[in-house]
Amino acid sequence: MSDLNTIIKEELERINDANTFKFETEIESAQSGTVKVSGKVMVMLASNNYLGFSNHPKIREAAIRGINDYGHGVASVRFLCGTQTIHRDLERRIAKFLSKDDSILFSSCFAANEGLFASLFNEPLGMDEWQDVIYTDQFNHASIIDGLRLCRSKSTVKRIYKHMDMNDLEEILKEDEDKDFRFRLLVTDGVFSMEGDLAPLPRLVELCGQYGITLTIDDSHALGVIGDSGRGTPEELGVQGEIDIITGTLGKAMGGAAGGFIAGDKELITYLRQKSRPYTFSNSLPPSIVIAAIEAFDLLDSDSSIIAKLKENTDYFRKEIRLLGFTILKGIHPIVPIMLGEASLAQEMAKSLLEENIYIKGLWFPVVPKGEARLRTQLSAAHSRDDLDKALSAFETTGKKLGVIS
Ligand SMILES: *Cc1c(COP(=O)(O)O)cnc(C)c1O
Repeated sequence: MSDLNTIIKEELERINDANTFKFETEIESAQSGTVKVSGKVMVMLASNNYLGFSNHPKIREAAIRGINDYGHGVASVRFLCGTQTIHRDLERRIAKFLSKDDSILFSSCFAANEGLFASLFNEPLGMDEWQDVIYTDQFNHASIIDGLRLCRSKSTVKRIYKHMDMNDLEEILKEDEDKDFRFRLLVTDGVFSMEGDLAPLPRLVELCGQYGITLTIDDSHALGVIGDSGRGTPEELGVQGEIDIITGTLGKAMGGAAGGFIAGDKELITYLRQKSRPYTFSNSLPPSIVIAAIEAFDLLDSDSSIIAKLKENTDYFRKEIRLLGFTILKGIHPIVPIMLGEASLAQEMAKSLLEENIYIKGLWFPVVPKGEARLRTQLSAAHSRDDLDKALSAFETTGKKLGVIS
């Protein structure tokens, strides 16, 4: 018999040797444009707090109101006694915001993605024998990959297409055209988290229409972030209302606490309330988070200056960091990957920046392809111009010190 602890220890050593051990930094303050670490104030460039709602006074007040009016938790799943009026209010609000019929809440977007695919594809739904096909982008989020793993391989064909490669996808679609599938579904991240690039939605809408495919996007990094009014990738790319199913998180721009959802047609959402296991068998979202999320939508709808500030900060940082001589991945998203190449350089630079009071994380193989190590910066409406200038100046100093820029 092998000893579990010995094997785990070996695996941990292997992770450490491969330089892929994930170290956690303890933050001593609330999440914001700056945070406190080891007693020092640092500019935060690594959070998904795009709108600064994680510690926004109105969001905090709303969360407290949630506790005062509805308590700390409901101690139940939704179908027993876990549905308060506010849960339905939030679900309708999300649906309206995204121009869909209805939506269904989950404890996270990870849970939403786990709860979507299997509940459709593993079920007979009018057939004794069936086969479905799912098309999925190579770089889709881990929660989509896991959600697809829950589908039975016997009845679900998974076809992975090259990242954003519409020619590759079209070839696969042509191969499948005459096959006898029951359902055809395509799933993609709206915005990919390592690149900050946007899925080519207009082309995907076209192809899915042409081949009879249900188009699903996970817009977690886009909700409240892109599109003139924060309605995400479909708004940004001019195809709002043309996506069949949208999943997303309340744990990034929209408050940063927790919660996820699926938005779609009325029948689908009603069906998921019956069949989706992470919904049916997991606790309802706490009232503080529900009320705070409703407030986040109110704020986004009523104060366009917040999203304008995020855009201004993003444009400023993208422009200035390039002027310093750094290579970034082009785009419009507040995720700005600064490309360094070698993992050791990314590690070295992240460490130097930390010493300059800039909170940043490096990414290297296997999280990103070999030779494409990078620092991923993320901008927020919570950053002041002064925060950004401090960060840029630290990038200049460390970049010169390490010979990345001259
Ligand atoms: C962050 C993220 C998730 C996970 O969201 P949680 O609500 O934190 O579980 C899922 N999908 C994508 C694309 C994400 O970026």
